[in-house]
Amino acid sequence: MSAGDPTLPFARRGLILILSSPSGAGKTTLTRLLAQRPELNLRLSISATTRLRRASEVDKVHYFFMERDDFVAQRDRGEFLEWAEVHGNLYGTPRRPVEQSLAAGHDMIFDVDWQGTLQVVEKLPDDAVTVFILPPSMAELKARLERRAEDAPAVIAGRLAAARDEIARWSTYQYVLLNRDLDETFETLLAILRAERQKRERQVGLAPFVEQLLVEQI
Ligand code: 5GP
Repeated sequence: MSAGDPTLPFARRGLILILSSPSGAGKTTLTRLLAQRPELNLRLSISATTRLRRASEVDKVHYFFMERDDFVAQRDRGEFLEWAEVHGNLYGTPRRPVEQSLAAGHDMIFDVDWQGTLQVVEKLPDDAVTVFILPPSMAELKARLERRAEDAPAVIAGRLAAARDEIARWSTYQYVLLNRDLDETFETLLAILRAERQKRERQVGLAPFVEQLLVEQI
């Protein structure tokens, strides 16, 4: 149960690190950097979506790509922890893997929009740690979307308009990071994760451990 550090002598509840930002602010890269560090022991939540797969994406790795009818049926059966319509497509977080991970004491990363964040915070207020990533400027955001060149110009224009709506939600997040430099932002995220793991109320096995500590004969 001692997620993140199996050498810890007491159990800790898993947490959900939620990263939100407009498209192009660096969130996906940061999410992958976190997931690529095995010592952090983080699990990436794989969302379901009705959006078309991009050339660089792999089904069941980046998303569970599905038809709208299937998504709606799963949603109506309560199989998503949260769901939202973003840029005209449906996105949702499958509930089961989250429940299993948290119960096993593993931390998870969610890459969801502000609507999904609000739902997760409402359902799992003690487990959610919310982080908003801001771009340094709108011009830089546009340049990043164009460099990515995976979406059609009309899609990019739509995403820029949506970016303003997403940025306007910054104040509902616990942490807000200005992503000027990817390495620096990554270090800050690591610091947040480490600090959140030490929260007293998450370290559920702490009380018996301290009791033992106090009666230890030296
Ligand atoms: P993209 O299509 O560029 O991969 O993602 C578009 C937006 O959808 C991003 O802001 C991303 O955070 C959001 N998103 C991805 N998966 C989910 C999800 O499962 N739930 C919600 N609410 N938003 C998601």
